[in-house]
Amino acid sequence: MQNLFLALTLLLPLRAEQPNILMILADDMGYGDLGCYGSLQIETPVLDKLAAKGIRCTDGYVCANVCAPSRAGLLTGRHPQRFGFEHNLNKAFPTLPERLGIPVDQKTIADHLKKAGYRTSLIGKWHVGDSVPGMLPNARGFDYFFGMRSGSHNYFPKPDKNHLFRNNEPIRKIDHPYLTDWFTHEAIAQMTSGKDPFFCFLSYNTPHTPMQAKEEDLARFAHLKGKRRQTYAAMQWSMDQNIGKILDHLREHKLLENTLIVFYSDNGGSVTASHACNAPLRGMKGSFLEGGIRVPFIFHWPKGLPSGTTFVHPFTSLDLLPTFGAAAGKQLPPRITKKGKKKIVNHDGRNLLPFLRGEVEKPPHEALYWRMTMRGAAIREGDWKLLINVHTPPALYNLAEDISEKKNLYHEMPDKVANLWLKLNQWQEALEDTPHWQEDPYWQGYNRKLYTHTYWLTQPKKDEEYNGVKK
Ligand code: CA
Repeated sequence: MQNLFLALTLLLPLRAEQPNILMILADDMGYGDLGCYGSLQIETPVLDKLAAKGIRCTDGYVCANVCAPSRAGLLTGRHPQRFGFEHNLNKAFPTLPERLGIPVDQKTIADHLKKAGYRTSLIGKWHVGDSVPGMLPNARGFDYFFGMRSGSHNYFPKPDKNHLFRNNEPIRKIDHPYLTDWFTHEAIAQMTSGKDPFFCFLSYNTPHTPMQAKEEDLARFAHLKGKRRQTYAAMQWSMDQNIGKILDHLREHKLLENTLIVFYSDNGGSVTASHACNAPLRGMKGSFLEGGIRVPFIFHWPKGLPSGTTFVHPFTSLDLLPTFGAAAGKQLPPRITKKGKKKIVNHDGRNLLPFLRGEVEKPPHEALYWRMTMRGAAIREGDWKLLINVHTPPALYNLAEDISEKKNLYHEMPDKVANLWLKLNQWQEALEDTPHWQEDPYWQGYNRKLYTHTYWLTQPKKDEEYNGVKK
């Protein structure tokens, strides 16, 4: 009894300190599609304020340029190539169902936080495997799931025509006509004060296609030319206002001070499909140009992080797992362990908290790496980036001087190219697996165009017509 009391006394102060964690993910949102990232057309007052009171990151990256591998990396904290998850899911590919998703032996952020005493929930898009029951959210550390298992959804679901689930039960009754509102409602229900802190992964599909918005939100942007851009702005506005409702809820319940909120996008904006804008970055979703992998990234945690600062060092979404582990006071397995002669990389990220707090001034990483075998690979080290795209010539850029990647220095700096290419190869050689499936060859022609489109490199003015790429 005495031992139990002692154990409880030791545990209680830790529990009291553990922050709630709210991770809000947008889907295919452009680097330049928030007011605080320079948009002159899209209005996002709530997120602008969140950034102003938290930390706005200029060089936040995702680990992949399309939805599913980006999410697989985020959830496991490991480069998804380490477990064969290199492309978007391709159900037409001839492989075993248990190969098509995050393998069931991989631990997720939710597994770790659940073990640390958190109530865990996933609201919205899953998209990292549903072909065997062991791959579904409730089997991957999430106590509660509401949303879709796949990559997109109609924003106005119908009782007999939707693919939404509450845990493992299909939805047959529509509680809210517009999906972004419904996800918000579901998320708020999970964000209650209780003896355990919460971890909520709010995975909006906004502003992914299909382009669908509420009439009242479209009316707000009636001045914008082009239905698609108008709809994009209205969808972003709806998400922003919904995040405002969540912040109000947290404030009213005195939870805001000690909730770590992270907001970012799973990959760059889809310029052609949804008329997102990544300016000043070139490229888009699917490419290894900056517009495909660099995204808006905001941290907000009044009790644990500075307010009103800008973080300029490069980092990736793989860093969130160790960052959340540190915030939760949870001892994660070390980054690297050895089994005999074999080196096991348990996670690829760094705890960002000391960097975000300014306690450590150097960048969190020496280099960042990307690869999708059928499309290309890239490395960023300091200001330099080497991009090996399989369908267009290789390129070397200095991002400090050339954020829009307009001047290819590949032939001018052979030593720099050789040095970066060697590091990129060494990273690839150390990956433990090969892709468990390949994407449809259709995407190869698409991939070439991603590098040859003429993109907008400055933001369209308030009323200027914007149709994605220039003709
Ligand atoms: Ca996406």
